[in-house]
Amino acid sequence: MNAHSTKNEYLPSLIKTSAISAKRYATILTMLLSESSLKSVLHAIVRLIEEKNFGSKGSILLLSADGKRLLKGAAPSIADSYNSAIHGIEIGPKVGSCGAAAFLGQRVIVEDIATHENWTLFRELSLAVGLKSCWSEPIFGAEGDVLGTFAMYYDEVKSPRADDLALISEAALLAGLAIERDRSSRFQRLCGGIFSQMPLALLITDAKGTVLDANPSFFDIMRSSKSELAAFEPHHVFGQSPSIDLARLFEQIKSGHGWQGELIGRRADNESFNADVNVTVFKEADDSEYSYAWIFADITERKTAADIIHHQAKFDPLTELANRPHLFEKIEQQINLSKLGSSAGFSFILMDLDNFKQINDSLGHELGDQVLTQVADRIKSCLGEQDILGRLGGDEFALIIPDEVRPEVISNIAMQLNEVVSKEYQLHSHQRVFTQLSAGIACFPQDAGNLEQLLNCADQALFSAKKSGRNQFHFFTEQMQLDAERTAELYNALKLALDNNAFELHYQPIVCAKQHKILHVEALVRWRHEGKLVRPDEFIPAAEASGLIIELGRWVRFEAMKTLLELEALGLDIGMSINVSTFEFCSHDLQGSLISSIVDMGNEICPNGFPFHKLTLEITESLLMNEQVHLIKSLSQLQELGIRIAIDDFGTGYSSLSYLSDFPVEIIKIDKSFIRDVNDKKQATLVTAIVALSRALNLKVTVEGVESHLQLAFVNEKEVDFIQGYFFHKPLEKQTLFEVLAQSPDTN
Ligand code: C2E
Ligand code: CA
Ligand code: CA
Repeated sequence: MNAHSTKNEYLPSLIKTSAISAKRYATILTMLLSESSLKSVLHAIVRLIEEKNFGSKGSILLLSADGKRLLKGAAPSIADSYNSAIHGIEIGPKVGSCGAAAFLGQRVIVEDIATHENWTLFRELSLAVGLKSCWSEPIFGAEGDVLGTFAMYYDEVKSPRADDLALISEAALLAGLAIERDRSSRFQRLCGGIFSQMPLALLITDAKGTVLDANPSFFDIMRSSKSELAAFEPHHVFGQSPSIDLARLFEQIKSGHGWQGELIGRRADNESFNADVNVTVFKEADDSEYSYAWIFADITERKTAADIIHHQAKFDPLTELANRPHLFEKIEQQINLSKLGSSAGFSFILMDLDNFKQINDSLGHELGDQVLTQVADRIKSCLGEQDILGRLGGDEFALIIPDEVRPEVISNIAMQLNEVVSKEYQLHSHQRVFTQLSAGIACFPQDAGNLEQLLNCADQALFSAKKSGRNQFHFFTEQMQLDAERTAELYNALKLALDNNAFELHYQPIVCAKQHKILHVEALVRWRHEGKLVRPDEFIPAAEASGLIIELGRWVRFEAMKTLLELEALGLDIGMSINVSTFEFCSHDLQGSLISSIVDMGNEICPNGFPFHKLTLEITESLLMNEQVHLIKSLSQLQELGIRIAIDDFGTGYSSLSYLSDFPVEIIKIDKSFIRDVNDKKQATLVTAIVALSRALNLKVTVEGVESHLQLAFVNEKEVDFIQGYFFHKPLEKQTLFEVLAQSPDTN
């Protein structure tokens, strides 16, 4: 849409030929000044024109805000049906008189609606209400933009005279004034409302800081009142902000540019607050100096919340130490510093409490947490200013010692750590607790080239410290790396062995203590690897660590159960003991699948009913230490099948004997270490006590590791039930076992 003429070039001609009397002007102006509604002013303008030009029907239409449509303004003498029909009509170069006038920004005179091409679409509509000619004048705003149209209709075909044209021009001018006045007062009202209600402080000052205006929020945020307000001194109000920010702010606004950023504000009562500040610089038309609009929000709460979130993301809530991701970030920083040559490297100590699980299980999490916080405090007491301590989770702590890789210095720190942590802990519950720390140490760049390797090295060192007795620290060594690589190789080799059937079972007879008759055999797995037989102690731990033990365990049970059936088929009444890894009991699911796999295998290889009563499962003492209802249930289920449960390596665990009565256990196998030295009085007493307790609990006792006459004599004295050991038989290959049994007539 083009505005062909603007108000400015068109105003003088109107004033020269004013067609409306001063009195009529006065009426309209009074209405404008008294802020009458736009509708009533437009109405009055139309009426005024109609009075002046008898027979005419005036119409004012308003252009929509998007500049596309004409909307009802005032047309009191024209039929409602017509007004409603054209309300909302889209403007265009050939849309009637008004649609075209608004579109073109030009006066459009249609003398005969019946014949004019602009009216093709609306002809019937207008003729039906008796409108035959229509002259339309665009209404312009102060900027020359079209605001609407003023039109005069007649009920006859008619051409305008010069004074008619002057009249509609003047009417359009008045209507323009009325519309603009309405718009600007509405805008002002709106601005005033926003200004006074917005939650941001708004302050307008001149170049000298004289306050020209301030909204209520300004006084709220500043905790001051209007009466206290003199000049606004940003140097004072924001004086606590970083000086670099202030310098930039003043430099910007002095040169006439705006500024936005966060500052620290000072309220009238001297309390500080975080402010999000926006300064707009402007010049009034007749001013040579700048004025400033300061808008700022009090973001103290938001900032505090952000700080808390930031803190939570980086620090462990219990100990307030750096958490795992944050500590790793710090390690990366140290690595970068070292790579840039700004540091000679650093040491990393990975720490783990030795018996924390027990503390947690026995005292509960709350007291466990108390221990952890105290441990953290004690570790902190050993640190230098630059050292960074973190909690990686659970009872795992880690320490970065920047710029220090000398082993003697690090050893000293680690020794101190071992010492402070192992002292007694006093808890709020007045309970006293002890714990110990194992630590693994790795250095950058000596041991590792990146974060992952560093963690790995420290982990291996920690593992080694734990393995060699706990409460100590180990430095990472090449040998550890070699061991770790060997373990990894072992995993792969074991997996292959399972696929290639490289395992075999040997069977060690267990004899009755009285007649030394073979009653039972224990299945012991062997791995035929590179032509040699590997003993289980070398690969079972790796199979457990990799989870392969599940598959291996099944294979062992399947083979052992088949052998049991073969023995039975030969008429040999021999029981079969099978070792089950603790790993297969470590979750409810695993316990479930252990039981069902035994049942399924039994049904598969002996559909008439597998002799489960000839099976004994050997589990280790450590399993019973974590008292758990589910384990009792699982063991009872096995027992219901007829299977016996034996506790292997008895006496090597930490546990007390008292829990034995809680579990459905039938046999105890006293560990071979108890009879190694028959002259050891303490051990002898222990064996006596274990046998006595077993009798009281109605348990059978097996002693393993009997190699000599002396040991046999010792064992006989103790009145155990069964004996296993090299003195009678070593573990035998299956074929050999069958031969041995065939030669021993007692077993038939
Ligand atoms: P264990 O269950 O305590 O088995 C007894 C171990 O003591 C066997 O070692 C056996 O050869 C050895 N032994 C028997 N009598 C004597 C003796 O008079 N003197 C000495 N010095 N040793 C004797 P092996 O076969 O090397 O097995 C070691 C361990 O590996 C077993 O200890 C058991 O914990 C585990 N293991 C063996 N087979 C399996 C299996 O199929 N599954 C699982 N999960 N573990 C198994
Ligand atoms: Ca065993
Ligand atoms: Ca054993």
